[in-house]
Amino acid sequence: MRDSYKKIVFLTGAGISAESGLATFRSENGLWNNHRVEDVATIEAYYKNPDYVHDFYNEMKPELWNAKPNKAHLAITKLQKEYPADVHIITQNVDTLHEKAKSKNIYHIHGQINQAVCMNCGQVLETWGDVTSETVCKNCQVMGMMKPNIVFFGENLLYMDKVEELLRSCDLFVSVGTSRVVFPAASFVQTAKYYGADTIEFNLEATSNNFYFDKHVMGKAGETLPKFVDGLLSKVSDS
Ligand code: NAD
Repeated sequence: MRDSYKKIVFLTGAGISAESGLATFRSENGLWNNHRVEDVATIEAYYKNPDYVHDFYNEMKPELWNAKPNKAHLAITKLQKEYPADVHIITQNVDTLHEKAKSKNIYHIHGQINQAVCMNCGQVLETWGDVTSETVCKNCQVMGMMKPNIVFFGENLLYMDKVEELLRSCDLFVSVGTSRVVFPAASFVQTAKYYGADTIEFNLEATSNNFYFDKHVMGKAGETLPKFVDGLLSKVSDS
């Protein structure tokens, strides 16, 4: 591992928001907030029963609206403010806790809970209110085409051109709180490593498929990440 870095890329997953009280993705029985993943997070499910899928995300909004960033989100913001490098955040999370922590350079590759996208014209609507199959697009005026701006299984990820560029050009890749079972995000570390980055993973436990990481730090991200950030910052003040 190097002593200092010029471009740092974080990949964050549901685990970084766990200490803010938000449930992570798959429990052992394959449920997400008490629903089958197949019923609420696939494009097939959305076409089959849009109202059911809308209800699921509408019901989730108040909890995500009220959630507060924790020490792990704030540590990344501190790094962005105080460390002399470009720091980017690729997040799989649909919550807005990085924004609430006042971070910048955030790429929501799986979308955002507070957005809907018109499948007719592509217009993105920002709203914490309910979106239903009767919502009318403000741009094209068509009703019933506003989909939650959540990337479902079976759909393309967002910002992939930017992500690819970041993975190829960063010198440090940091994964935080992701089980790395959801592809292609699970393979980002491989690209970063291949192009020469140091790679480090923060998770509660050892993840599978993790040989591309130079280092694993186990524990709660709210405890381990602030220490890591302070360590990087202390090397700047030493130099
Ligand atoms: P995941 O739920 O599959 O995995 C979470 C990982 O975080 C696990 O490996 C777990 O060991 C680790 N973890 C749990 N608590 C932690 C802590 N305090 N500190 C460090 N690590 C901790 O999540 P994923 O890999 O992000 O994939 C799930 C998908 O579900 C994502 O694509 C995302 O879109 C969606 N999701 C988002 C949210 C959110 O926005 N907050 C919540 C749930 C699911």
